[in-house]
Amino acid sequence: MELPFAESYRIKMVENIKKSTREEREQWIKEAKYNLFFLKSDQVFIDLLTDSGTGAMSDQQWSAMMLGDESYAGARSYYNMKNAIKEILGFDYFLPTHQGRAAENVLYSTIIKEGDVLPGNSHFDTTKGHIEFRRAVALDCTIDEAADTQLEIPFKGNVDLKKLEKALQETPREKIPCVILTVTNNTAGGQPVSMENVRGVSALCKKYNVLLQMDSARFAENAYFIKTREKGYENKTVKEIVKEMFSYADIMTMSSKKDAIVNMGGFVAFKSEELWKNCQKFCIMNEGFVTYGGMSGRDMNALAVGLDEGTEFDYLETRIKQVEYLGSKLDEYGIPYQRPAGGHAIFVDAKQVLPNVPKEEFIAQTLGIELYLEAGIRGVEVGALLADRDPVTRENRYPKLELLRLAIPRRTYTNNHMDVIAVALKNVYDRRESITKGYKIIHEEPIMRHFTVELEAIL
Ligand SMILES: *Cc1c(COP(=O)(O)O)cnc(C)c1O
Repeated sequence: MELPFAESYRIKMVENIKKSTREEREQWIKEAKYNLFFLKSDQVFIDLLTDSGTGAMSDQQWSAMMLGDESYAGARSYYNMKNAIKEILGFDYFLPTHQGRAAENVLYSTIIKEGDVLPGNSHFDTTKGHIEFRRAVALDCTIDEAADTQLEIPFKGNVDLKKLEKALQETPREKIPCVILTVTNNTAGGQPVSMENVRGVSALCKKYNVLLQMDSARFAENAYFIKTREKGYENKTVKEIVKEMFSYADIMTMSSKKDAIVNMGGFVAFKSEELWKNCQKFCIMNEGFVTYGGMSGRDMNALAVGLDEGTEFDYLETRIKQVEYLGSKLDEYGIPYQRPAGGHAIFVDAKQVLPNVPKEEFIAQTLGIELYLEAGIRGVEVGALLADRDPVTRENRYPKLELLRLAIPRRTYTNNHMDVIAVALKNVYDRRESITKGYKIIHEEPIMRHFTVELEAIL
């Protein structure tokens, strides 16, 4: 008999989590203005709000923290991080930042001007925020198939090379600071980009003489998918695949809270010494001196170890199989989600789960609230709230997809937790006919409103 699959680690330290009653949750979510970000973590039983900075570090990472060098300039920890970035990712230059969006800030403060166009595959929300804040345009060139949640294709995060080439042809060269390739494509459902597509994007960038930036938060998961799904890569190691992916990039921005498995940290890395130097002033102004940026020495040490562990096949297999496991449970109950299961999350197709809630009443948010009420599980809306208003017309944007993202923190929950999540969703799904009303906005900010929006239940 073939041995069943088991995790590639064991547990050395635990953190208690609390259950609650439905009555308590009804009260708490109302007090939180129906915004899941406003809940206290103690009011949540299983927290799937994000996989960002919520993972469990290893004993190796914790011990590296004790060896942190907190020197202001030229710390050993900086060089540990520098070596890991060079050896594992292949970049010579980098600036440490406190997280991924800070890396975007340092980079975009340098290269974006008003009226610019940045084509890419479904820009991440903070990326889009940084672009639109500078009155530039984030042009989405993702393949159309990404919007069909039921279509099973291996690389649903790909860029449509025709769309990209059209954009590159139609936009004056000086208006394109870079093309942004997001691996994996978070907004389209944690879907990977194939090496063939990376190569295609890179070829177009070279043809039109434009820099290629990789938004790399989940680069290791992307490499795992290339290894397990793309012909010709099955016998390469994840580390070899990662090296090849980044060989095509000029710049990478990184939220280390994802695939470097740390609680805080990020960086922007460069192939060009000149661009690195040009970006330094914004690092010094906004983050810190160039050898620590937004990070302490101990955090840079943990990050260096995390980059190594995060690109090991056994770790990635454990992680991605857990997400797949949750997907298979949802299959059992007939609950539709973005197929195939993504690398870091399951994206439940809220329009199909709650067919009776009008889009103006925020379908995916309504599902998120229902799931919280059902079992104290916190997901996050990826729908009309996140899509925000059009920066010019100020009209609400209603995206094709209304998704509830259930992000799985790394090395944190067991498959028993996955079972609870699946059954809770099933219970909501079973009473879908009776859920007909959603929520309305009573307060919102002009940009990135989903974090702080206040809602009221429509009665
Ligand atoms: C998380 C993330 C970011 C932003 O990083 P933070 O660390 O949250 O600031 C940017 N791009 C992608 C694809 C991400 O997943």
